[in-house]
Amino acid sequence: MSRAGYQREYHVAVIGSGGVGKSCLTAQFVQGVFIESYDPTIEDSYRKQIEVDGRQVMLEIMDTAGTEQFTSMREFYMRDAHGFLLVFSITSLTSLQELAELREQIVQIKGGDPNVPIVLVGNKSDLEEDRKVSRSQAFKVSQAWGNVPYYETSARRRQNVPEVFVDVCRQIMRKDLSRAR
Ligand code: GDP
Ligand code: MG
Repeated sequence: MSRAGYQREYHVAVIGSGGVGKSCLTAQFVQGVFIESYDPTIEDSYRKQIEVDGRQVMLEIMDTAGTEQFTSMREFYMRDAHGFLLVFSITSLTSLQELAELREQIVQIKGGDPNVPIVLVGNKSDLEEDRKVSRSQAFKVSQAWGNVPYYETSARRRQNVPEVFVDVCRQIMRKDLSRAR
């Protein structure tokens, strides 16, 4: 492995209910643009090289569009991904509640590992007037999941967008390095 040639490649899946802003977050991070209306059925992966704590990392981001019919697809990306952004919208309590089942599936697929790299993301923070989920409510959920980090983001305003990807990446890297030791 040449020093210059070696590069870590981490797979991150962006999951959550339809309409919470998964595609907008991904596009804002990868392309730096806010796309007003994204085809809700688009499920695709994107690559972006970033630097985390002085190390170059190639991120492969899976923007999911998980509909119930495609549970085998869901299982596939859950197996494949090293880390997860669990996204809800602060304007929908249901979208937060629906994450519980997804998180359970992830933990199960990862062999019961309670420390799977996960970030809980409350998107649409620019819509404060439509807020239906309080910060403390979401924070409680993040604590119940083993103190996973909780961020509020706005894909529209690019608030905290790189931060959530870097955070999950850093969690994956820590695991990766401790395994290599
Ligand atoms: P997905 O189904 O989770 O991929 O959701 P999309 O990324 O397609 O976004 C669904 C809708 O929410 C679109 O109309 C977006 O314009 C809107 N949206 C996404 N992120 C934000 C955000 O941060 N703020 C606001 N105000 N709207 C957003
Ligand atoms: Mg989408």
